[in-house]
Amino acid sequence: MIAHRFAVPLAGVLAGSSVLLASPATAVTPPVTSPAVPLAGPPPPATPAGGGQREKVPVAEGYGGAVSTVDLDASEAALKVLRRGGNAVDAAVAAAATLGVTEPYSAGLAGGGFIVYYDARRERVHTIDGRETAPRAMTATSLEGIPFEEAVTSGLSAGVPGSVAQWELALRRFGTISLKQALQPAIQVAREGFTVDQTFHDQTAANAARFADFTSTAKLFLPGGAPPPVGSTFRNPELAETYRLLGRYGGRWLYRGGLGTEIVATVKNPPVTPGSTRNVRPGLMEMRDLAAYRALERPPTKITYRGMDVYGMAPPSSGGSTVGEALNILEALPDVGVHEYLEASRLAFADRGKYVGDVPGVPLRELLSDGFAKERACLIGERAMPHPAPPGNPDGAYEPCPAASGPSASPDSPASPETGAETPPEGPETTHLVVTDRWGNVVAYNITIESTGGNGIVVPGRGFLLNNELTDFTFGPAPGDPNLPGPGKRPRSSMAPTIVLDDGRPLLALGSPGGSTIITTVLQILVNRWELGMSLPEALAAPRATQRNTAQTQAEQGFLDRYGAELTARGHSFTLNPEIGAATAVEFLGRGRLQAVAEPSRRGGGSALVVVPAR
Ligand code: GLU
Repeated sequence: MIAHRFAVPLAGVLAGSSVLLASPATAVTPPVTSPAVPLAGPPPPATPAGGGQREKVPVAEGYGGAVSTVDLDASEAALKVLRRGGNAVDAAVAAAATLGVTEPYSAGLAGGGFIVYYDARRERVHTIDGRETAPRAMTATSLEGIPFEEAVTSGLSAGVPGSVAQWELALRRFGTISLKQALQPAIQVAREGFTVDQTFHDQTAANAARFADFTSTAKLFLPGGAPPPVGSTFRNPELAETYRLLGRYGGRWLYRGGLGTEIVATVKNPPVTPGSTRNVRPGLMEMRDLAAYRALERPPTKITYRGMDVYGMAPPSSGGSTVGEALNILEALPDVGVHEYLEASRLAFADRGKYVGDVPGVPLRELLSDGFAKERACLIGERAMPHPAPPGNPDGAYEPCPAASGPSASPDSPASPETGAETPPEGPETTHLVVTDRWGNVVAYNITIESTGGNGIVVPGRGFLLNNELTDFTFGPAPGDPNLPGPGKRPRSSMAPTIVLDDGRPLLALGSPGGSTIITTVLQILVNRWELGMSLPEALAAPRATQRNTAQTQAEQGFLDRYGAELTARGHSFTLNPEIGAATAVEFLGRGRLQAVAEPSRRGGGSALVVVPAR
């Protein structure tokens, strides 16, 4: 149970945080067969309150299931599945596929992602790794010397897609409906269209130059040669057809069949617009790479923080290990405020850079041990520590803090370019969704095609972009770096879908996009919630800062206004980042009451919905 040291009394919030709902469900066991009502066809009568809601709202409270995504169509897709008796996994796949339609620059069937799933019946947390992989022909030097921006828009950066295999595995293991059924809401949105909002328009405009360099991409996303105007209806009938065929033939169509052949052909020979001067490097992907792809179940990371169990994503993501280590460091400190938040994050990123990647022997257990965290916490003093923070030594033999602790007390661990390497660039966009159902199952799901617009290349006639996930590898040369490319290797991710349990029951689930700032956004929301006394909506809305073992901390203007002077006086320095993250979350308020939360304004605001709204 949660014991003590909260800045806010949570006892009331947590009392009776049962996953069994008073209303409206009576069932307490997840269904083991498909819902009787097919997901295609007319919807069942809407629950009186909350049905037909077309306004995007960032906070929703109620019962019987909840969803939060960046997008109303995607949230509604999930809600539709929940209302028809589907569970959280069914709804999450439906929402993810719909995001592939409405957020095609952040998500899609040719991308990848990570699912953290709480199974209410078994009271267990599972994860599914749907990360893209490098082709067999990729080696440690394949990206060396290539300018980052050139790699982004190339066939070379496209990893073997993971999302479809992940959806199939998730549905088979934990879902109740078929892939075909889960794709129906997305097919409908792709056919009927969605309303172009400012975010979609701006993202298209920001990508217009490179989209114009590919015939297939220009045709789809620059109709008439320009980004679709705000307020217009955007239809993607080719994607609707791709999803329909995927539903009919299953993932085999991608991993061993015709769609795979088209993906490989596009990767190896991108459809460059005649006259374009862009140097587009072809990729190394072959059909055998697609055939070898597997979505993988992995044990989650787990740490205990103030009596709660925090579950996250293990390597190849650094999300679980880095959020977890930082929380452990914070727990070892007598007081936690924004200074401590930044310093703990700095230290955890130093360790992430040195130890975490898709390699054997990541010292995960030690990185997440209290002993290691206590040793690292000794380095946090009154002032910001010198840059860069060196990585620690997670070897199981930990020293107590020297008498005068703080950064000046540790001259024996000097920073070096090798040990204190800056975090390499990662794309700032992807997406995250949370869903929970009437049985108390919970999904936190990060989906990505890496950069906004992926590699910029639409597979001709199929309506979706390819990913550029392989730019998440370290380009090198970087001897000893765990994140160098390799055959069949998965690039290190920062995605951090996170589920927090209290006494074995879900309390909170959250995540965000934002490349390596994902980790700090998740961490900061937890610090806001548990240490700074904010409600979950406040914790998401609060201004953000991100310290990733860089000389300067990036911060939003609101953060600088609130904390800038105080932190600068303690040795921190800042650069402005106009917007960090776009989080989604759900909190279990007790007695079956749910609070779904999205961003009120970042990236145009998100959409929170509940099955039965509280009155
Ligand atoms: N590629 C990033 C990662 O896996 C996520 C995409 C983003 O938000 O930039 O960490």
